This record gives sequence, C-alpha cells and structure tokens, in this order.
Amino acid sequence: MGKKYRVGVIKGDGIGPEIIEATLYVVQYIDLDIELVELQAGYEYYKKTGKAIEDRFFEEVRKLDAILKGPLYTPPHDLNFRSVNVMIRKELDLYANIRPFKSFKSLSQKQFNLVIFRENTEGEYVGIEGMFNDIAISLRLISVKGAERISRLAFDYAKTMGFNKVVVIHKANILKISDGLFRNVFFKVAKEFPNIVAEEVIVDTAAYLLVKNPEKFQILVTPNLYGDILSDLVGGLMGSLGLCGSALVGDSIGVFEPIHGVALDIAGKGIANPVGSFVSLKLMLEYFGQRYGDSKAVKESKLLEKAIQNVVDEKRIWTPDLGGNYKTMDVAKAVAEELELLRKA
Ligand code: ATP
Repeated sequence: MGKKYRVGVIKGDGIGPEIIEATLYVVQYIDLDIELVELQAGYEYYKKTGKAIEDRFFEEVRKLDAILKGPLYTPPHDLNFRSVNVMIRKELDLYANIRPFKSFKSLSQKQFNLVIFRENTEGEYVGIEGMFNDIAISLRLISVKGAERISRLAFDYAKTMGFNKVVVIHKANILKISDGLFRNVFFKVAKEFPNIVAEEVIVDTAAYLLVKNPEKFQILVTPNLYGDILSDLVGGLMGSLGLCGSALVGDSIGVFEPIHGVALDIAGKGIANPVGSFVSLKLMLEYFGQRYGDSKAVKESKLLEKAIQNVVDEKRIWTPDLGGNYKTMDVAKAVAEELELLRKA
C-alpha cells in the first residue's frame, strides 16, 4: 500500500471554482490514494460570512500534505479585507515560489524550459508603507536567511532535475545594499555546488533576453518583485497565463496554484483555461515524489505532464485564450482520456 495523501482544496474566487472543478476531475484519474479536504477562504466566502478564512483553517492545514488552490481575489477598494494569499504565505512561511515554464511547440515561437525561483516572503511585498509629509515611503526587506534559502533550493532543484546553470536576477548596480546582499549570498551558496554554473543578469537585461533568447535560460533566482513581473512576461511567451502553474513551498507544506489571478472578465463562462492548474497538480505529484521518496508519485507526475502536452500540442483542445473554442471541462475530459490511453500504451 502506498502513502495516503491528504490534500486541502481552496476553490478560490473568479475563475477559481471552474478551474478547480476541472482539476479535481483529473485527480480522479491519478493512481494515488488522495483524500480531498475542502477549505473555505477568499473574497466570496468573506462576502457571505464576514470572515476571509474559516475559523479552523490553519488547524486543518497543519494536518495536510499539500493544498491545491485556485486564485483568490483581493479587492483594492476594500481596506478591511486582508489578502488571503499573503496571509497563507506568511503563516505557512512559503518562502519559495517555483514557476516552471516549459513551452508548447504548437503555441510558442521559441522552445524553452526554464524555472523561476521567486523569493516569496520579503522584498517590497512585506507591505510596510507610509507617508512622510507628501512623500510616500515603501520599505524593501532582503535578509541573508531569505536570500540563502531560496538560492539553496534553486541549486538543489537544478542538481536533482538535471539542470546545469543557475542565474541570479538583480539590480545591484543601483540597489547596492539590498540587491547586493541577495547577489552576494547567491554566489556564496553557489560555492556548495561546484558542478553547476552560477551567473548573474541585471533584471532589465533579463526581461530583454527572456523575450529574445528564452532558450538560453535554465534556472532563475529572483527577489520577490522581479520574479512576479518576469513570470508574467514568460507567461506571455508561453501563449497564455492560463497555461502556467506554480508551487509555493516552505519547510512544512506545499501549496500548488496557477500563476494567474481571478480573471473576472471571463469568470462564470466555463471558458477559463485549466492547464495552469493541471500543471500545478503535476508539481504537487512531483513534490510528493521528492518529499516522501514516492516513485509512484513521480511516475504519475510524468504521465500527467505527457497527457497535458499531448492534449495541447497534438489534439489542440484549446480554450479561447489560445484561439480555440473548447470549454474548461472539455480540456479536463481530454486530459483524463489521454491519461487512460497513456496507461494502456
Ligand atoms: P488578479 O488581480 O487576481 O491578478 P487580474 O484580472 O489582474 O487578476 P489575471 O486574472 O491574471 O489578472 O488575468 C489577466 C488576463 O489574463 C485577463 O484578461 C484574463 O482573462 C486572462 N487569464 C488569466 N488566467 C486565465 C485563464 N486561466 N484562462 C484564460 N484567460 C486567463
């Protein structure tokens, strides 16, 4: 008997419930013992109950192996509502936001396979701001601990997954102390990995090079804000934000979610692209494989990756963001069917 996994599910706001429904459909076709536990959180939940998360939320979370999550809405106009995303990241200390981008040959002009390791708890996102007379001030925090753990995770990942180059992205020519620290700590950690090439690229140059030659990148390590922006840029190169998934990892738990937001413009229409959420599911299986040495989970993650690739590249079951006419659940059914076919092959 393999391990039984307890996975929390946060449906989220906007297109969240639609893509999570599609993802849970695919979960039924994964050959692992997975128990799903629904967790209530988000803006819709807040509008109904006055609470952003249910009372026993973190108590429940501590009993889980992972969380599958849809995007959560944080309205800029409602000052009483604190971002649930930030709350979860802080409480669970999810310091690494890992965003793999593997191009689909039918959708990208250039083929690439790169992973952004975005520091997820510091930088500008600590949210410490204030006014000094008529000057707005925002604090940017970069710590040795923060830079060290994201760098080490990126090098470890490179070593395990067979990449041989890791690049730190910074603006240390201008932000000499904060980004300077991030850069220096990265190169200190790099010394522990003599077989992996460590390089640096200034963030604006990185934006240019990612568009021009994305195939030259493998692993990128970035402070919080740069990783956020560069991820959406690479999402554009992929063909749609709806294709990209991510893992938010700390020492205790992993949270898996698509990189896009709530996409209110298409919510409720059944046309959201669920592939990013399927990629997140794939990352969760990979995480189980590494964390628990579960070779079956690794096999399932590879199978799911292949099924997604076949559905997008060969069968071209595309939602409207990719120029197709298929619905969210059509993609889920096609991936499930493909999983069955691959198992028989
Ligand atoms: P947030 O504030 O939560 O980040 P947003 O609307 O600013 O939300 P996104 O939700 O990421 O940003 O959407 C940006 C654009 O990408 C929108 O036009 C949206 O429709 C599109 N988009 C995002 N995700 C998907 C998806 N899964 N399928 C199709 N289109 C998507």
